[in-house]
Amino acid sequence: MSVQDIGRLDGLAYPRGAAYMNGQFIALSEARISVLDWGLLHSDVTYDTVHVWNGRFFRLDSHIARFRRSLEKLRLRVDLTDDALRDILVECVRRSGLRNAYVEMLCTRGVSPTFSRDPRDAVNQFVAFAVPYGSVANERQLREGMHLHVIDDVRRIPPASVDPQIKNYHWLDLVTALLKGYDAGAETVVIKTTDDAIAEGPGFNVFVVKGGQLFTPEAGVLHGITRQTVFDLAARRDMAVRAARMSEQQLRDADEIFITSTAGGVMPVTRLNGAPVGDGQPGPVTRGLFDAYWQAHDDPAWSLAVDYDDQVCG
Ligand SMILES: *Cc1c(COP(=O)(O)O)cnc(C)c1O
Repeated sequence: MSVQDIGRLDGLAYPRGAAYMNGQFIALSEARISVLDWGLLHSDVTYDTVHVWNGRFFRLDSHIARFRRSLEKLRLRVDLTDDALRDILVECVRRSGLRNAYVEMLCTRGVSPTFSRDPRDAVNQFVAFAVPYGSVANERQLREGMHLHVIDDVRRIPPASVDPQIKNYHWLDLVTALLKGYDAGAETVVIKTTDDAIAEGPGFNVFVVKGGQLFTPEAGVLHGITRQTVFDLAARRDMAVRAARMSEQQLRDADEIFITSTAGGVMPVTRLNGAPVGDGQPGPVTRGLFDAYWQAHDDPAWSLAVDYDDQVCG
């Protein structure tokens, strides 16, 4: 994949796509939940997102496994085997016809038939959908690097309150920080934990390259599948990775910074709070990992082809 490929996806109108809920495949525009769903009223929901690139899912098994762990922790039930769940996601993509897609599976606490205040009375609701692929970074940002700000006065929800390993929609900290960042000229932001360590940004993990080694926060962040993929790619190149507490000073002293997400892969950061990172260009380690990341999408061990042959429209 090249930077230009992602750029062509910019500027889409309301996304086309396909969805699955209540046992049926439907058009994305028909996929709706009740305003009485605990998922909406209490953010009582978990989800996972995987992408399809050039007609192939990337590390789908890892995403399904993480979704299962999140469901278990929240005591949510999806009565589907992993095979059935995988087949539903594949079918959403097949019906959408999308070769590059962002595919989400989610489960809300649901609606209680009696509107009781006991979460155990609610009927859990599973929804899956496929929409056109979207990236945290646009084409220019992938080429030139993003402008990242560390926001100090909004802190990540502590793990003792909401377990960050449960992929969740508790994003008021992240969105509040993002709006403050935009006011200050940032393109995206990273926030800290309540004990002053670097945490993560809106839907992405952060890495520092220093002296040829990789560093990334360990606690108070979601352990991203893209983060894990960077660990795996680094191991193949004999590059050391340290997942440990990261200070703001480490970010400031970085040779290179990049961020990682299913929505965009490995994305360079070339400005931190307005100041250039290194020489202000995406660095060689970041560029090497970017290329290796997209090359890995053809590896049969890490990807699953969608069979679009007898495509149904709608
Ligand atoms: C999804 C997400 C990430 C990135 O995880 P990936 O599995 O790499 O997409 C990082 N932080 C948060 C808060 C997220 O929701």
